[in-house]
Amino acid sequence: MQEIGHWINGKLVAGTSGRYADVFNPATGEVQARVALASKAELDAATADAAAAQVKWGATNPQRRARVMMAMVGLLNRDMDKLAEALSREHGKTIPDAKGDIQRGLEVIEFCIGAPHLLKGEFTDSAGPGIDMYSMRQPIGVAAGITPFNFPAMIPMWKMGPALACGNAFILKPSERAPTVPLMLAALMKEAGLPDGVMQVINGDKESVDAILDNETISGVGFVGSTPIAQYIYARGTANGKRVQCFGGAKNHMIIMPDADLDQAADALVGAGYGAAGERCMAISVAVPVGKATADALIERLIPRIEKLKVGPYTAGNDVDYGPVVTGAAKANILKLIESGVAQGATLAVDGRGFKLQGYEDGFFVGPHLFDNVTTDMDIYRKEIFGPVLSVVRSDSYEAALKMAMDHEYGNGTAIYTRDGDTARDFAARVNVGMIGINVPIPVPLAYHTFGGWKKSSFGDLNQHGPDAFRFYTRTKTITSRWPSGIKEGGEFNFKQME
Ligand code: NAD
Repeated sequence: MQEIGHWINGKLVAGTSGRYADVFNPATGEVQARVALASKAELDAATADAAAAQVKWGATNPQRRARVMMAMVGLLNRDMDKLAEALSREHGKTIPDAKGDIQRGLEVIEFCIGAPHLLKGEFTDSAGPGIDMYSMRQPIGVAAGITPFNFPAMIPMWKMGPALACGNAFILKPSERAPTVPLMLAALMKEAGLPDGVMQVINGDKESVDAILDNETISGVGFVGSTPIAQYIYARGTANGKRVQCFGGAKNHMIIMPDADLDQAADALVGAGYGAAGERCMAISVAVPVGKATADALIERLIPRIEKLKVGPYTAGNDVDYGPVVTGAAKANILKLIESGVAQGATLAVDGRGFKLQGYEDGFFVGPHLFDNVTTDMDIYRKEIFGPVLSVVRSDSYEAALKMAMDHEYGNGTAIYTRDGDTARDFAARVNVGMIGINVPIPVPLAYHTFGGWKKSSFGDLNQHGPDAFRFYTRTKTITSRWPSGIKEGGEFNFKQME
């Protein structure tokens, strides 16, 4: 059985805790490896080494650090196929989707090549007589990233790129369900020129997460995952005096107005609802058609499209629309929620419960499901399902549809399909959600903008990547300097007013 350890001080090392977790091949259901789960002692030792390595890295000029990012972009492109295969083998997503996962991370590394520009401080010449005032952005020291299973390449890169480009050391605690690609990324960073110890990858579970939260050397923590864990990490990390940003779960609504191009909206819903088996925080899981005629016409278009979806293993290449979900436990949870939808009275317009794939009977495949006549009190509406299940909640009016999206506890992403600019503008201005698509189903901002939700989808006050990341991973220091010619005149005993 393959054993997956940690990346510490520039090399792969075996775990010493004696605790392991199974790593599955979701397509076959087989345990393909076991991953070491780090102890507090392992995390603390790796952090102490990272802190020592950070001193020189933090003092390296920003342009040299940016050149590591530049080299990393080349290496990611060189190894794209290898990375995608490793990613799909542990996660289950299709190869084209795995490449998208890597590409969206690569774009943040690419953005970090511009770090010297973003790290420039501010300067006021002659703020007073003989006085200059300037601010600089300094690294926070050692930062940690705790990441989810669903984007094993993209989200670690969203965190490590800016953290490292800002001159920090970085401890990555990836998901124990997909640990291989993060280790490959650390090896590529070394090849790109990152000094040993500056980036450590510690595999683990709650024990290593708690060790991160309690470690006094780690001054910033970025988390992405489910909302209950996000809330826990935010509370414990901030109570320990750390800077913490946590991004949580989602329930993304798409509002379909009567004037929308319904074929376009149906295509978008199928891609955004079922792509990656619905295991995306920006997946659309709720469709809200406005008016009965819109709803009936939309359902009529959705059913044949959903029934045509091809579900299979990543090894089938481009022939598959989506793969298995990540574990047997995830599959069981999705099926349980589907049963609750039926029991609570929703109409199962596409029933994927009988889905079987010959030769892959033990894989974690879930057939596509479409619910109609869902109401907002049902569990399938309130909870994040994180599976290939789309719920249609019919609405009588635009105002009611807008209110529905606004009343949901999550606020990650949302979309509106309409031909009317006035409605689209009103929606974008009023809805209390972080990322909005106008005739765009998955509005994931590009690397040079920032990514983050509102309400229970995000805890903390800065977003991921873009300029916010450079604020999160640096501390501002402001210097007032005076080079008086008249120091010989003696001391001053009161605050001087700026003139
Ligand atoms: P998860 O919360 O189970 O795990 C995320 C991380 O937390 C992992 O590294 C895991 O090891 C750790 N963890 C799990 N349980 C813990 C505990 N009790 N104490 C401390 N740490 C713990 O999430 P997941 O299943 O890996 O990912 C799916 C979730 O992530 C979904 O809710 C999805 O919406 C969300 N997500 C959000 C975003 C976003 O940007 N908002 C992006 C991707 C995924």
